Formats: sequence, structure tokens, C-alpha cells
Amino acid sequence: MATDYDTPRKTDDEIGEDSIEELKARRVDKSASPVDVDEAESAEAFELPGADLSNEELSVRVLPRQADEFTCSRCFLVHHRSQLASEKGGQPVCRDCAA
Ligand SMILES: [Zn+2]
Repeated sequence: MATDYDTPRKTDDEIGEDSIEELKARRVDKSASPVDVDEAESAEAFELPGADLSNEELSVRVLPRQADEFTCSRCFLVHHRSQLASEKGGQPVCRDCAA
């Protein structure tokens, strides 16, 4: 009875140790070069353009004109009230266009 249990246990331990060591070596090799590079490159490429586009679109579309701002009737740019030179026929004109 005892010998029947001892023999398979030894072989199982030997096989398990070998396979674990092999798996560790393989995992290190795989995670060392390709995975790290892919994660770093994808993260950088994903964050930079996405953040820039969202910020620009938000500032232009969501805030086209505030209460203290006006859209010039000549250059069609949004300026602060302090840049309002005159209103010709009810159309606001910025200082740059009026100069
Ligand atoms: Zn203008």
C-alpha cells in the first residue's frame, strides 16, 4: 500500500517541478519583450491624440459664445467684449477687423 502511493508521488513532484520551472522561464521570456512594448506604445498613442482632440472640440463647440463674448461679423471669430470695436448695423466687429 505504502509503496504504491510513494512511487507516483515522487514522479508527480518531479514532473510538477520541471513543468513549473519551464512555465516560469517561458512566462518571463514572453512578458519581457513584446507585452511591455505593446502596452507602452498603445498607451502613449491612445492618450495623446485622444486628449488633445477632446479638449479642442470641447472648447470650440460647447462654449461657442459666452455672455461676455461676441462673434465678429467679419472674421467670424469669437472675441471677448473688450475686443468689440463697434457694431455696424447690429453686427459686431472686433478691433482687428475695425482697424
Ligand atoms: Zn473680426
